[in-house]
Amino acid sequence: MTKVEETVLEIDLKALKHNFNHLKSKIKSSTKFMAVVKAYAYGNEAIEIAKHLQSFGADYFAVAYLNEGIALRNSGITKPILVLHPQAINFKKIIEYNLEPSIYSSKILEKFISVAFQEKLKDYPVHIKFNTGLNRLGFWQDDIKYIAKTVNETKNISVKSIFSHLAASEDLEEKTFTLNQIEKFKSIADNFKKEIGYKPWLHMCNTSGILNYPEAHLDMVRSGIGLYGFGNSEKENKNLIPIGSLKTIISQIHHIKKGDSVGYNRAFKSNKSQKTATLPIGHADGIRRQYGNGNGFVYINNKKAPIIGNVCMDMIMVDITHIDCEEGDEVVIFDANTTAESLAIASNTISYELITGISQRVKRRFINL
Ligand SMILES: *Cc1c(COP(=O)(O)O)cnc(C)c1O
Repeated sequence: MTKVEETVLEIDLKALKHNFNHLKSKIKSSTKFMAVVKAYAYGNEAIEIAKHLQSFGADYFAVAYLNEGIALRNSGITKPILVLHPQAINFKKIIEYNLEPSIYSSKILEKFISVAFQEKLKDYPVHIKFNTGLNRLGFWQDDIKYIAKTVNETKNISVKSIFSHLAASEDLEEKTFTLNQIEKFKSIADNFKKEIGYKPWLHMCNTSGILNYPEAHLDMVRSGIGLYGFGNSEKENKNLIPIGSLKTIISQIHHIKKGDSVGYNRAFKSNKSQKTATLPIGHADGIRRQYGNGNGFVYINNKKAPIIGNVCMDMIMVDITHIDCEEGDEVVIFDANTTAESLAIASNTISYELITGISQRVKRRFINL
């Protein structure tokens, strides 16, 4: 593999295909696969990734917000796109770009119907979100009669699916809670179908739901983190390949003496002669300050180099006293072997936060096209 000469997030499209196929192998062929590509496909890059997922056979896409859906449409994604968290102000654009809203409250439902009426739409597909325990977004079980009545009184929209979201699908200690969410959703679905008189699709599994709760796969599953190579457990991680490798180079090497300090606020003070490397990546690139002061680390020639001192906006400094290396050498912040998850855990966060935080300033490069 060619070495990098600046900070680059390499995205391995062969690994993406592997992960997609692995997750698909966990579901029935009749169950549809919704690829969640919100937040730049979890900090990777949404457009190229969505195009590839579309060609691998993803049935549906999900984004969180309007602009993410517009970007996909503008780049030629033709599969249906669910917008998970639209606001009323977005509805005209949602329709203009042929996106499908998640409807999670009476205010949002009534507002969408009024826009659909103005636009003279017929049976515009919407997705009704029910809260079954996450307590974040969604209607309650008690709202079923109201929703069905409201939807049945209009010809402008039709309910393509109803869905819910699991709160702790990766945590097997919360199995009882999760099974309760699944039962609740199934009972909501039965009631809803009776009231509305037709059968919308049902879906509630995220990646860990796919892996841990086959009884809840229903008509469609929604996977994000698994596509990008993380299974939320050691066992599941073995079957997936992280698609993103964040790499940089050594800009400069410094030899410091006992008593010297490194970086802002002199946060690191040396008690011996040592060698440090300055790397062109900082908190503006997504390496948050919490990774500084010995918490986070990088790899140079396969040896671990801790981040010393405070993370700067555009740079970090690492201790390379024990490493044979030169200016210009490649540095791995995370890759498929030394994963984002291990770095995230070392600094008290999770893979989702580290990878989605890699900023747009970092160049993306696709490999294994
Ligand atoms: C982000 C999100 C997903 C994807 O979850 P993963 O754990 O990344 O697979 C699925 N459904 C909803 C509603 C989401 O917000």
